[in-house]
Amino acid sequence: MVTHRIPIVGGNWKMNTDRASAVALAGAVDDGARALPRDRVEVAVFPPFPYLLEVGAELRRRASRVELGAQDLYPEENGAFTGEVSMEMLLDCGVRVVLVGHSERRHIIKESEELINAKVRAALAPELGERMRCILCIGETLNQRQAGETDAVNERQLRSGLRGIAPEQMARLVVAYEPVWAIGAGKTATPADARDAHGGIRRVLAGLYGGTVAEATRIQYGGSVKASNAGELFAQPGIDGGLIGGASLNADEFNAIVQAAADAGLR
Ligand code: PEP
Repeated sequence: MVTHRIPIVGGNWKMNTDRASAVALAGAVDDGARALPRDRVEVAVFPPFPYLLEVGAELRRRASRVELGAQDLYPEENGAFTGEVSMEMLLDCGVRVVLVGHSERRHIIKESEELINAKVRAALAPELGERMRCILCIGETLNQRQAGETDAVNERQLRSGLRGIAPEQMARLVVAYEPVWAIGAGKTATPADARDAHGGIRRVLAGLYGGTVAEATRIQYGGSVKASNAGELFAQPGIDGGLIGGASLNADEFNAIVQAAADAGLR
């Protein structure tokens, strides 16, 4: 049986934009996504925390199909966690999808596997129902790739990130395969390398949850995706859209990437 997975494209704005440009960028992304059928591509933007409310208001004002995402969360309900933002706060701001385990948080902020797992559990908590989805980012460093450890690193990060997650929670999870050496570096995995890594990830998911869940789970590619390379990446079997950093700050570039994913979604 062939499962139809709708590609999903996320714009991770990281620590960029200001209030006015964030709202303008969201509007321009909505302009691009508006004409595309929902069963061809899903689109989300991940603004910095301080701009979530205004970007969310702009998307609501436009009755946009673009989803509001957050770049991170803290896995406690409330309390003495200075500087952190809880799941309830994100829901209160209209957030419907959250990134967890982005490589910049793993490698710059030094988040542990344990914390990443706690965040995935918080985002996929059964009591949230359909209200929140989670994109779990995984991927190897250059040294690990050169040592031939790509599949092993992906497997380790998947197993630890998904510890305690039941098969029925997986419908709300997307995996983003983002080789660390490709992020923000202008370097992209070749389509064949990305396809092979995605195949390895899906095999791990099949081992953990069975073939049906593995086939239904979307696996995005991330790492210097641009309008010029998105088409051939998304045309690979098993690549279900992308998580986009630098190129998501330019609406024309991002919208062309979304279009490429929608075209791939026709397959
Ligand atoms: C990212 O931040 O997830 C990312 C893939 O960044 P970039 O597209 O800039 O490599």
